Amino acid sequence: MAETDCLFCKIGRGEVPASRLLETDDVLAFRDINPQAPVHILIIPREHIASLGEVDESRAALVGKLHLAARELARRAGLDSQGWRVVTNVGVDAGQTVPHLHLHLLGGRAMHWPPG
Ligand code: AMP
Ligand code: ZN
Repeated sequence: MAETDCLFCKIGRGEVPASRLLETDDVLAFRDINPQAPVHILIIPREHIASLGEVDESRAALVGKLHLAARELARRAGLDSQGWRVVTNVGVDAGQTVPHLHLHLLGGRAMHWPPG
């Protein structure tokens, strides 16, 4: 998918509104439009990468930054004492619906394992 058509690239460029919570040169985080927990935040690279399945060694630092952003956002949301979850869906079987790499940060309720 071209960056021009990608929903999360559009959010990154400000062409689609989102409730933005964190922005750096490399990373953007915003609230999920259909939250599955009291806290449900999406963390994306500004660069268009389809999924974690497309990532190689050259993006190791970027993948680290996405996770550090999740940690920071969990802390800000007051989730540290009770815990939180990070999920990334890759491809059809995982239920990925937006083909732009994103971490889901979920918290604020007890969660089950394994996920469905
Ligand atoms: P996934 O199914 O892992 O690809 O996750 C895509 C996520 O994007 C879903 O949780 C959707 O609710 C969320 N989503 C879709 N459109 C928007 C939007 N415009 N703003 C914020 N979140 C969105
Ligand atoms: Zn994109």
